[in-house]
Amino acid sequence: MSSLFAIFGNPVSHSKSPLMHNATFKALDIDSCYARYMLTDGERLREKFLSLGLSGANITVPHKEHAYRACDYLDEFAQKVGSVNTIVQRDGKLHGYNTDAPGFLRAISEFEDIKRVLFIGAGGTAQSTSVVLRDAGYDVTIINRTPARLERYIADGFICYSFDELLSMDMNQIERFDLVVNMTSAGLEDDSLPAPIKILNEFLPHSKACVDVIYGKQTPFLRLAKELNKDTKDGSDMLLYQGIIAFEHFTNYSYDFNQILPHMRRVFDF
Ligand code: NDP
Repeated sequence: MSSLFAIFGNPVSHSKSPLMHNATFKALDIDSCYARYMLTDGERLREKFLSLGLSGANITVPHKEHAYRACDYLDEFAQKVGSVNTIVQRDGKLHGYNTDAPGFLRAISEFEDIKRVLFIGAGGTAQSTSVVLRDAGYDVTIINRTPARLERYIADGFICYSFDELLSMDMNQIERFDLVVNMTSAGLEDDSLPAPIKILNEFLPHSKACVDVIYGKQTPFLRLAKELNKDTKDGSDMLLYQGIIAFEHFTNYSYDFNQILPHMRRVFDF
């Protein structure tokens, strides 16, 4: 039987997910189709999912918390981080997963000898990825422009600093980081760095690698890291890997990661 999948978001027109999943359905000879749906009211996500007769969906900004609330069942990790980007329908019940964070973990695992990680940014993506990294044994420190956003991370036991705090202290007191990650949207639609240059100049030169979660463009952050001859990576692998893990869920694990990888990766070659 053919199945229908979709991505919900607002905006959603830029999403690569339809291309990634449709190319993989075709390559694996699966009779299914993946569409995009611009959803303005996140509270209607469950109703829309069911009325469209979807077998599964991905959820992007700003509806990942709505998706969390729309599900009947949540896997342990989605439950822990309160954010769902993948829903699968089984017997009329919606099962929710978070594949962004394991996708990010896999993307950074390709760097060797990384233990201490600095996140610049404390939004929704940082929330799930900080937890997955800590569970995997990394030490994660989080810095952010707005101090209030750090409160939930502090309550969760992470070491955190606001930019102003860092600028007013002797940053040499802080142990250096192996990996620095831009977890903000700075550089996505503008040309800004994610933190004051004084902070970046303190931590980037001592790092082994730098990652930006923004994909498909050279951000000012990545440009700076390259000028310092760091190993770099943009958010494309994270996007690819979260898609592969979602595809595993959509097909009820009939295909494993390495079977899906070459087909989905081809979309990124264009
Ligand atoms: P949120 O809106 O939840 O959080 C945004 C974060 O960025 C906040 O910490 C905010 O700081 C910070 N920020 C925004 N603009 C600036 C700026 N000019 N200077 C400093 N800090 C800034 O966003 P998300 O966590 O959902 O997304 C973050 C990024 O991750 C986006 O660029 C998104 O595209 C990317 N992403 C990539 C994925 C992938 O597969 N590659 C998957 C999911 C997301 P403040 O609190 O001070 O406002």
